[in-house]
Amino acid sequence: MNPQWNAIILRYDEIGLKGNNRSHFEKVAENNIRFLLKKTGLWVKMHRVRGRIWMNKFDESAFTDADLEILHATLPRAFGMVSYSPVRLCKPTVEEIFPIARELTIAALRNACAQYSRPFTFRLRARRANKKFPILARDLEQQIVESIAEENIDRSRCSINLMDDADLTIGIEIRDEFAFIWYDTYAAPGGLPVGSNDDVLVLLSGGIDSPVAAWKMMKRGCRCHFITFDSYPYTPETSVEKVKKLVCELDRWQGRSQLFICNINEIQKKIRDVCTMKFRTVLYRRVMMRVANHIAFKKRILALVTGEAVGQVASQTIANMNAINAVSERVVVRPLAGADKLETIQMAEKIGTFEISKAQVPDSCTVFAPDSPCTRASIRQLLDEEAKIPDLAEMIRDVAESAIKFEIPETV
Ligand code: ATP
Ligand code: MG
Repeated sequence: MNPQWNAIILRYDEIGLKGNNRSHFEKVAENNIRFLLKKTGLWVKMHRVRGRIWMNKFDESAFTDADLEILHATLPRAFGMVSYSPVRLCKPTVEEIFPIARELTIAALRNACAQYSRPFTFRLRARRANKKFPILARDLEQQIVESIAEENIDRSRCSINLMDDADLTIGIEIRDEFAFIWYDTYAAPGGLPVGSNDDVLVLLSGGIDSPVAAWKMMKRGCRCHFITFDSYPYTPETSVEKVKKLVCELDRWQGRSQLFICNINEIQKKIRDVCTMKFRTVLYRRVMMRVANHIAFKKRILALVTGEAVGQVASQTIANMNAINAVSERVVVRPLAGADKLETIQMAEKIGTFEISKAQVPDSCTVFAPDSPCTRASIRQLLDEEAKIPDLAEMIRDVAESAIKFEIPETV
């Protein structure tokens, strides 16, 4: 039986703690969801009621299987939401609710009988936000369970469990204007809706870490823009192609991403020719950080994000991070500072970037990289090294000004 879901409810968590600002966060979430769905060609009407966001089709008809497929591909990417359920929406009267809840309970139990090879537990869970509703929630649940006693369901396989760990929950929510009934709940990523916090600029390499760092910032409500550095012709064109692929994948979580591609090979050659070898890696990083600050200034972005993790490689010691920070006029956020590589890899798999990142393509950091880079570069030493390139500031400005902008194609 097709349950004829004619609405979807979405639940949030952290947004609920936002007090007076809650409606702002709800509005941002609502716009994001509408935007993500619009890209797929599914137009929906969005509504907000206390603690819930819900949507239906403009003609109020049931969602088709194709619509549901789009929703299941999109809503698990809606930051700010913790879960969602396809529901049957009806008037908040006993006459409407009872037959629908009964029909859906039977359907859910039959599905579960087919799905589980073991005995399973279920419960009905009614909530009455509308206190004028004539029947107590508990009585409504009981009457529905009693009404299905005669149905052809193998009751030896299912027993009632009123606790949260029941295998199957049939939910009924009765509000002033309408009621919702459902039996499936799907996970959404949680966090805060993208756009509810300031934009950030992510230094995105083709590696595993920086895409995960970006995702974590999206989850905190920051729209990510990206900057990547290449050293063509010392790095192949494929290294930029790989970063573009990563940006396209990450964009599926937020939309409207921009990528700035900056070639730093002239500066790298200069560093190779005149600076002490062991400082190269940190000097490159300070160059990247300065170029990123230029772009951030133009875009009015206040924070930079990197995928650095303390101690992971020589350039990521606390001392070197400090030396890299010293050239930034903006806060540098390192969401993975305390993460283990394994945790980061698992997260990259979950968010869909690992398959792209794992391809081995040279990165501009590795161009002319020293065999044993300095792990404790002092700022004094680095300034002395940089003084050997009198026109460094101009070179950095030129790189920023000739950045190539890549926008995600509108098609999904
Ligand atoms: P990742 O997996 O993110 O590349 P990593 O472990 O390889 O990280 P590094 O190569 O030391 O570490 O880079 C540390 C951080 O510096 C990266 O996470 C990224 O934010 C930034 N970064 C490094 N190389 C580039 C690049 N070519 N373009 C943009 N940012 C870069
Ligand atoms: Mg890297």
